[in-house]
Amino acid sequence: MSNNFKIAVALGLLALLFLVLMPKLLWNRLRRGYNLTTFRSDNLSYQKLKELSGAEILVLVDNEPSNSNFELKAAWGISLYVKAQNVSFLFDTGPSPEVLEHNCKVLGVDLSNISFVFISHEHGDHTGGLPYVAKVAPSVPVYVPSGMSSSVRRGIERLGFNVVEVKGPQQMLEGIASTGPLMSGSLAEHGLILNLQGKGMVLLVGCAHPGVDRMLLNATNFSEEVFGVIGGFHLMGASETRLEQIAKVFDELSLQLIVPLHCSGKTAKSFFKEHFPQAYLDAQTGSFLKLGP
Ligand SMILES: [Zn+2]
Ligand SMILES: [Zn+2]
Repeated sequence: MSNNFKIAVALGLLALLFLVLMPKLLWNRLRRGYNLTTFRSDNLSYQKLKELSGAEILVLVDNEPSNSNFELKAAWGISLYVKAQNVSFLFDTGPSPEVLEHNCKVLGVDLSNISFVFISHEHGDHTGGLPYVAKVAPSVPVYVPSGMSSSVRRGIERLGFNVVEVKGPQQMLEGIASTGPLMSGSLAEHGLILNLQGKGMVLLVGCAHPGVDRMLLNATNFSEEVFGVIGGFHLMGASETRLEQIAKVFDELSLQLIVPLHCSGKTAKSFFKEHFPQAYLDAQTGSFLKLGP
């Protein structure tokens, strides 16, 4: 076989490989674009969620200090105490066990009765309070996004918790679901959905590293009726274009409650306040929200 022939065969094989792989790559690209700009898909089969009659959310920890209770400590991070029907749980734990313990005591919150802890993602400003939870509610299930670093997962297990990895959109308890994780490694993150009777879904997000818009779109695996979003939107330093992109999704979903906390940033907060005056709600450490009866 001549060298020229060998080169021709090799080139032919390469061309064939290119032809086989290219449509798949292009398709994946298109699909990603499609997911970002529109959330309505004709062949979407919804996962049905049960409904909760109502929910109460108390901001245990946030970067912004309380404007009424000066005993509370503010710290970079987020932790929400949620009561929904006869279940209570913790959404993230803030940056430190001391801050979490202090604020729980000031607010009269007893974590010993919680059913589970939901960890949005592995960053320390969300997982740092876990040692306090381990003292008062030992061995409760801790839901984490799959893809989380194994060292962080082992650290949570060493505190005595039963770690439950969430791999995709799933209902955890009646009316309470995870969006399923987006991204991987230290940025793997999932949001928590509360499905409220007569309102629709409320999405809680920790830092929204994958994008608060993408996380909302993931929530529509369950239903298109999204009532609101609460938590860290991670938009410090975000461009006007990016804020408008997110506003477009908020608009498309007709959100009626927008509560940016934690890492949302002052610019994004005023942007959403201006664009959605009816839905926007200012909240910080110690804020209490009652949704439903
Ligand atoms: Zn983070
Ligand atoms: Zn954070």
